[in-house]
Amino acid sequence: MDRFTKDGRLIIPLAQRKTGTDTAAEDKVRYVITEAYCPAGCNIIDSKHKIGGQPGLRMKFRRPGVEGEFVLSAIEGDFEKIVLSGELAEGVKDDLYCPHCDVMFKKLVNCPCKADADMVVIGLTPKLDFNNAIAFCNVTGCPNGSFIKSGEVIRHIRL
Ligand SMILES: [Zn+2]
Ligand SMILES: [Zn+2]
Repeated sequence: MDRFTKDGRLIIPLAQRKTGTDTAAEDKVRYVITEAYCPAGCNIIDSKHKIGGQPGLRMKFRRPGVEGEFVLSAIEGDFEKIVLSGELAEGVKDDLYCPHCDVMFKKLVNCPCKADADMVVIGLTPKLDFNNAIAFCNVTGCPNGSFIKSGEVIRHIRL
């Protein structure tokens, strides 16, 4: 029963997920990222680590004195992470890097949650295209960590 969008994202009905969190009529489906790449083109989908039954997005994080890796849920609006090494701190920002080639993920705009917070962009195509990407805040626990297309992020910021 799974369906894929043109750009390779898998759509799952929201009913399969926890209910009662959002009643908006247009919010009946959620996107699942099935392809994600670092700016240099490495595939960062980690099929060994699944969250909600879906392979997650693996990244390396670094801040002064701390370094590690986590896997982020590929399900839109789900910020669950599996920390593989190191420690994340609530409300603290980390720079994010490719776990394979160590290239830093690009930052799109400032997140309003903190003066130095950034919306980090992850492309859904091997060659980074800002119109086919997801963006999320690099501060642990920030609710603006959202799987939405980067064009929509810019529109929200303008409003
Ligand atoms: Zn890479
Ligand atoms: Zn934020």
